Amino acid sequence: MLQFHNTLTRSVEPFTPLDPDGKTVKLYTCGPTVYNHAHIGNFRAYLFEDLLQRHLEYRGYQVERVMNLTDVDDKTIRGAREKGVPLADFTKPYKDAFFEDLQALRIKPADRFPSATDPEHIARMIAMIEKLVADGHAYQADDKSVYFRIASFPSYGKLAHLNLEELRPSGRVSSDEYEKENIGDFALWKAHDAQDGDVKWDSPWGPGRPGWHIECSAMATGLLGDRLDIHCGGVDNIFPHHEAEIAQTECCTGQKFVNLWMHCAHLMVDGRKMAKSFGNFYTLRDLLDKGWTGREVRYVLLSAHYRLPLNFTFEGLSGARSALQRLDEWQQRLTDLSSTARKSEPYSAMAGDKFAAALDEDLNISAALGVLFDLVRDTNRAMDQGELSPEQARGLLDYWQGINSILRLEPEVAAIPAEITALLDERTAARAAKDWAKSDTLRDELLKHGWVVKDTKDGTKLTRVGG
Ligand SMILES: [Zn+2]
Repeated sequence: MLQFHNTLTRSVEPFTPLDPDGKTVKLYTCGPTVYNHAHIGNFRAYLFEDLLQRHLEYRGYQVERVMNLTDVDDKTIRGAREKGVPLADFTKPYKDAFFEDLQALRIKPADRFPSATDPEHIARMIAMIEKLVADGHAYQADDKSVYFRIASFPSYGKLAHLNLEELRPSGRVSSDEYEKENIGDFALWKAHDAQDGDVKWDSPWGPGRPGWHIECSAMATGLLGDRLDIHCGGVDNIFPHHEAEIAQTECCTGQKFVNLWMHCAHLMVDGRKMAKSFGNFYTLRDLLDKGWTGREVRYVLLSAHYRLPLNFTFEGLSGARSALQRLDEWQQRLTDLSSTARKSEPYSAMAGDKFAAALDEDLNISAALGVLFDLVRDTNRAMDQGELSPEQARGLLDYWQGINSILRLEPEVAAIPAEITALLDERTAARAAKDWAKSDTLRDELLKHGWVVKDTKDGTKLTRVGG
């Protein structure tokens, strides 16, 4: 039975989708603010969401997923102003970079990646705010901005488990906050000011731009409907962002917005909070530049339970490299052994799918990886002793391919350059002519270029050194 921890109830609950057929799962995940390159703390959350989606799919659900891109807010506007370029020109390279990073980390793309500045979504945000104002949940203040009236939503604070009376200013009181009825009221629509330059949209309250929280409410309900099965984010998003999303959305729709709220814990680097000032701040690109691969970073960021803080270190990355090498070698051994198998002897039918059963328990990845590496050790031992049949090896490979649809830890597929293909062809011709000396020289030549040639009974195989 699948069960997940719900931030709203603070308990682990059985998972039941809203879909009466029990097939489709509607999942909304807060995406990046595209004012710079996402850092590895952001990617920890996106990888947790990837694990969630892939495990749900492994269990037969169809996941309909939306991830937004916040391409208008204080930071994006400031960035565009400092560069002296239009907002869309400023955010575009960061959007492109984000998609490249997702690919490097093998994160399955969402079905939709809506941008907040899309006219369709801006229109929906304005419509939602109009309804909130009409129903008394929002008001326009003297500064012309529109605020959500938290006093109008008695359960405000339920997600973060805060008491309304305990809500105090965070110490960051800017002058415009004096305009509000209540210090906790948050902006739905921000009136245009000189700092915003030409970033503005017309609205019933004058020119301005949407607040961050309403962006997600509008895009989530616009693309997935009024009710969602699961909404994810990092723990940083719980308050005020997700709390505000609940208040706005439920006041608009009159229905429970989200059944299950899941949040990923912080990433620490070398035992402390990641910060540019500590010199321990890394984007994915920083790590790729240092010679680590997307799959190694994926392994590290996935390998701790999502609700526990993860301490990222370079020793951890080295550990990932060794763990992946073990998996690659195991997979290669099974492949070699299974080459003579006439059929597959299904593995999970023999032993039960303990890997997936561990993930059923609130995505217990540590236990799941423990199961996997026990299996690697035991079957390697069985192969050492000649006790694993080719049919069993093929069954194990089939099983591995199944669980790897969740993990996505297969070796990188390196493109073979034309020069290398030419050398390989020359060597094949030399072997056909039984010119063994030339064949060996060409094999050494390929090795110098970083490619290993292996002659097997199924033909010649070419692999990248260490790949
Ligand atoms: Zn959001």
